[in-house]
Amino acid sequence: ERQPLYRTINPATGAHLASFEDADPAAVEAALSAGSRAFDAWRGTPIAARAQALERLADQLERHADDHARLITLEMGKPLAAARAEVLKCAANCRWYAAHGAAMLAPETVPHPAGHAEVRHEPIGIVFAVMPWNFPYWQVVRFLAPALMAGNVVLLKHASNTPQCAAALERAGIDAGLPQGVFQNLYLTRDQVARVIEDSRVAAVTLTGSEGAGISVGAASGRALKPCVLELGGSDPLIVMPSADLDRAVAAAVTGRFQNSGQSCVCAKRILVHRDIYPQFRAAFVTAVEALRVGDPTDSSTELGPLSSDAARDEIAGQVAQALAEGATLVTGGQALPGPGAFYAPTILEGLPEGAATRREELFGPVALVFEVANVDDAIRVANETPFGLGSSVWTQDAGERARFAADLACGMTFFNANTVSDPALPFGGTKRSGIGRELGRWGMMEFVNVRLVFTA
Ligand code: NAP
Repeated sequence: ERQPLYRTINPATGAHLASFEDADPAAVEAALSAGSRAFDAWRGTPIAARAQALERLADQLERHADDHARLITLEMGKPLAAARAEVLKCAANCRWYAAHGAAMLAPETVPHPAGHAEVRHEPIGIVFAVMPWNFPYWQVVRFLAPALMAGNVVLLKHASNTPQCAAALERAGIDAGLPQGVFQNLYLTRDQVARVIEDSRVAAVTLTGSEGAGISVGAASGRALKPCVLELGGSDPLIVMPSADLDRAVAAAVTGRFQNSGQSCVCAKRILVHRDIYPQFRAAFVTAVEALRVGDPTDSSTELGPLSSDAARDEIAGQVAQALAEGATLVTGGQALPGPGAFYAPTILEGLPEGAATRREELFGPVALVFEVANVDDAIRVANETPFGLGSSVWTQDAGERARFAADLACGMTFFNANTVSDPALPFGGTKRSGIGRELGRWGMMEFVNVRLVFTA
């Protein structure tokens, strides 16, 4: 008999703690019809009432932040303080959309010589969300809050290794008084995912995850002629120029690369340092990385927990082996830690040669690739060489350099003198193979509305 797909395995210990049955076909049908009925009512609910529901969801998340945080840490291994911060960020996102949603959704008048043109922003129906485990609350709520605010309803298929997070989020929605069917979680198999995308009651699809998942879900959405937002992988550069505040740049590189054990789409996966400051930067960076405290994620002094699974740890180990075979030099780390749990030592590789296959890959773990660059042109060339184009972080005090980087980095987001972050007010998303569409701000909300023209001559 095959193993259940949805399981809680504590990555810090390897203990298999719980299993969950795949969704029964009858339960999938019931959820689709409940979602469809819920939409009929929710779309007509006054915007102010939808905002209040989001406020109540924020209250629920804040009130039970410690319980939610424990589940996150248990299922995917991030340190408890980071898990708690993630839950609170979700609450803040709900409140942000509750405060600003109505203005974004307000109808607009387009001056036109032939008549009165009103543009409304109407909800479209059930939005089906396929979400990853790396920020198991944030990835969901960053999409959920604007979707609900706009009057859509949501069906969630969460990652198979965070089933209890998925259930707790659904429960938070119920406890916040969301009407039945407005936000539902299902433990779907891949086949069921395909069937849900095809179902005529589903209006649109959103996925955060890997390129492979994006291709599969994007293709299914295309066949069904449904709009689809894809937030995929990245290999973001963090560029340090000679004018940078070196201490801050080093600290940013450590956080940017090693946050969440390196498992964030916008991690600073490649660190590009101008040759004039390379030796100083390298020395300080190595010292800081070697000082990172790796261990039990429930211990408050821990900075780096395990990877999300043994498979994830083995994959990053394989990529490090490949990079070394391609000519990279190991500066520090480079091995799994002994004992139980999916722990991997914070690692720095440098000198990975031009043309190496690993230079084009995403390293989803605590491994920094450091490169020496000669000048602005060289930094931009190396920054743009991957198939991804999500974020970038550039450390420089030089306005001329900033203008060049802002114009020529091929990506969705550039942060100067700050790490790439997501923020409710700001658009988030990428170009090239990092995805299609945007989340957050007004842009994220507009992905799932019908821009409806009502013209009166
Ligand atoms: P993943 O394997 O793609 O999983 C993400 C979700 O997609 C899970 O719910 C997974 O379900 C589902 N899935 C995977 N393959 C599928 C398929 N063929 N058909 C239908 N559903 C499928 O992603 P991951 O490796 O766990 O997560 C890390 C990736 O997400 C990285 O590449 C990271 O950069 C990216 N990411 C991007 C962003 C962004 O905003 N751009 C944010 C965070 C992460 P199962 O768990 O059941 O397989």
